[in-house]
Amino acid sequence: MTDTDLPAAFGFLASAHTGRGRAAPSAAFATRGRHTLVGERLRLQSVDATLVHPGADASRAHSRGADVFALIAGEIYNRDEIHATLGTRAEVSDAELLLGLFEKYGVHAFRLLNGRYAALLAAGDRVLAVTDHAGSVPLYVRAVPGNVLAATEAKVLAAHTSAGRGAPLDGVRRLPGLHQVPAGAVLDIRTDTGAVGVHRTWMPPVHRLLVSEDEAVNLVRTALERAVVRRLPPVGRPLVVLSGGIDSSGVAALSNSAAPQGIDTLSMGTTASDEFPQARLVAGHLRSAHREITIPVGELLAQLPHTVHAAETTDPEIIEYLLPLTALYRRLDGPGRRVLTGYGADIPLGGMHREDRLPELDAAVVLDMDTFDGLNEMSPVLSAMNGHWSTHPYWDREVLDLLTSLEAGLKRRRGRDKWVLRTAMADLLPAETVNRPKLGVHEGSGTSSGFSALLLRSGVAEPDVPAVKARVVQELFDRTVAGGVHPDDIAVDEVVESAAAGVAA
Ligand code: AMP
Ligand code: MG
Repeated sequence: MTDTDLPAAFGFLASAHTGRGRAAPSAAFATRGRHTLVGERLRLQSVDATLVHPGADASRAHSRGADVFALIAGEIYNRDEIHATLGTRAEVSDAELLLGLFEKYGVHAFRLLNGRYAALLAAGDRVLAVTDHAGSVPLYVRAVPGNVLAATEAKVLAAHTSAGRGAPLDGVRRLPGLHQVPAGAVLDIRTDTGAVGVHRTWMPPVHRLLVSEDEAVNLVRTALERAVVRRLPPVGRPLVVLSGGIDSSGVAALSNSAAPQGIDTLSMGTTASDEFPQARLVAGHLRSAHREITIPVGELLAQLPHTVHAAETTDPEIIEYLLPLTALYRRLDGPGRRVLTGYGADIPLGGMHREDRLPELDAAVVLDMDTFDGLNEMSPVLSAMNGHWSTHPYWDREVLDLLTSLEAGLKRRRGRDKWVLRTAMADLLPAETVNRPKLGVHEGSGTSSGFSALLLRSGVAEPDVPAVKARVVQELFDRTVAGGVHPDDIAVDEVVESAAAGVAA
């Protein structure tokens, strides 16, 4: 395993300011890594930043041009296409590509990128805060006249209260004066005044494609293959987190076909529930080096503060999805790994809706694609908390555009959910895997039921369980993200008690 298997940086905190001599910001990230301070003086402003990075040096995460400075956390997947338009060489870093594209296309550069990244560019008298199409690396901004702060974790900016309240933006409000850059957007901020404009770089498609079964299956297979290949480590073995469902098994199968040395797979279960037999079937079929981790339910629930701290979301359902994965990543010791997941396939394919009527299914897809932003489901911090880099092929821009735009009858067909995906993977996996019904990770691991049982044991009345869960998550957010308390210093039982009392009152 070498540094080059992972992005040059996992996160950053940056301050662009018109004043002189400002100290470089220091920060408490949940993301684990080395911290490197970088600073650049431009003609009309200066930038000071802390980069959090997995390798020995972070130089490939920043780049300086004539009167421009760029920082990137994460990675770009359509490098080949960008090389073709810029005439750049393969060794050029993602930060240099970003800069080259910006110099050629201006703010429209970001419409050309397929990646998992957040970026900041200081250019002339402006700062651009940039998210990928899915906002998969969250980015937060606090802007006051003369100082723009941006960070990949909200808690890092929450600690910078001295910067004062920012102006209201067209983003998700989470903390006073602090804003999340929307998915697929560039916030274009004047450093001296703090005035903000918003450019959209991506929108979920609402048109639908009427194509034959064969064509749809071929399109899906090809797009997903490309997305997986772009995410494989240049050297070393990829790790796939495998439930044995069609989504992660498909990613494992395509990774295995493309990785010369084979793949590693990892499954988690709890003392209450697991999907080990289903995952083992796939691992055996692909002959992956497979590992199982069983986590006691109590230990799993003790990870709640860490999950909220990492995901920085107040949505209790999302936290239930992310809790088992957080627990898994935190148990994965050793050098930082590049982890491929099957996360997110259900959103464009309407997989969790168990809905046979096509109009209703398509309406559900439209709604889900309109409301994912700000939930932080895909946040890299969940794994980066323990030094690993996760990446989600189903939310590759090309795959997501394609899956979303297939007409509903290709998603649900012959009584089967995710029909087009199942059919596209059928030759690579056991029939039992291809036909296996959907089981969410929060169900398969017993997370949702374990959380409910914890509340019931604490005296919460059954009908109050959802409200108490929401309150627990909100309180954990308030304490760890807004309040700066370290998750290790929070006792879940005590938060449950206080949330239960709050709901009962
Ligand atoms: P799901 O909610 O089942 O769609 O899970 C989302 C993704 O998380 C899957 O595609 C897998 O990559 C991963 N995952 C889910 N369950 C497990 C598990 N038990 N062990 C390891 N990875 C899992
Ligand atoms: Mg599953």
